[in-house]
Amino acid sequence: MDFENKVALVTGASRGIGRAVAEVFAKGKAKLILTATTNSIDNVAKEISEKYGVEAIGVAGDISKEPDVKDLFKIIMEKFGRLDICVNNAGITKDGLSMRMSVEDFESVINVNLKSAFIVSKEAILLMMREKYGRIVNMSSIVGIRGNVGQANYAASKAGIIGLTKTLASEVAKRNITVNAVAPGFIDTDMTKAVADKAREEFLSLIPMNKAGQPEDIAEAVAFLASDRAKYITGQVLVVDGGLMLK
Ligand code: NAP
Repeated sequence: MDFENKVALVTGASRGIGRAVAEVFAKGKAKLILTATTNSIDNVAKEISEKYGVEAIGVAGDISKEPDVKDLFKIIMEKFGRLDICVNNAGITKDGLSMRMSVEDFESVINVNLKSAFIVSKEAILLMMREKYGRIVNMSSIVGIRGNVGQANYAASKAGIIGLTKTLASEVAKRNITVNAVAPGFIDTDMTKAVADKAREEFLSLIPMNKAGQPEDIAEAVAFLASDRAKYITGQVLVVDGGLMLK
């Protein structure tokens, strides 16, 4: 897909799905701003820049903190002066049954997975309105649609992403800005490596396509929604799960 002359922000791009999204944009010649919590994101940006011959910068920070997000957008303005695509991908899990889950663990997952998407989208929309163009893609999960034992915090955050996506989509539709979400199923990344073997086997047995998804499978869906091919699609949730939701 062609992203030449587009400036794209991907949060949580150090590994997993975020990194795969960054690589699809880089293949399409986008200019990239990549974030993660540590400075290792600089190396990721450098590797992608050299591999695809595109401009890419890494910005370390906590995307759930408004001052860090303000600093991020200052850098975007100084370096590129505009933003065309924003992928709110950063996410964490802190699993446990609800009766044992601490309020801190509930709050921190909501902050990183949901509050961050609100704070980042607010800043992104301000820039996109100036250009009368924008594509926002938020990372939800099938767990946000159907719930999941041991993930009250995570499921609530991912359901919240769907409400946020639909609301923002309605608010900015007139400005030529689309806002959509992708809801992955079970994808092979560090996040799912943490899932116990038994739970993993149970999940896999429920997938009609009989295998976990790869980060690239999600990246292609994100790229489609961020491309001009999807210019009349807004407020939608694209499930990418090998058929898991059919069960
Ligand atoms: P992952 O491999 O664990 O990567 C998570 C990314 O988020 C890392 O780059 C991490 O940066 C970044 N991050 C975490 N907290 C952050 C914060 N406070 N500020 C900035 N960056 C932060 O996860 P993944 O599996 O690729 O998941 C990516 C997204 O897809 C998440 O929103 C996740 O909920 C969603 N998702 C995943 C699956 C799945 O099966 N894997 C399914 C459905 C939805 P550091 O490297 O600095 O930690």
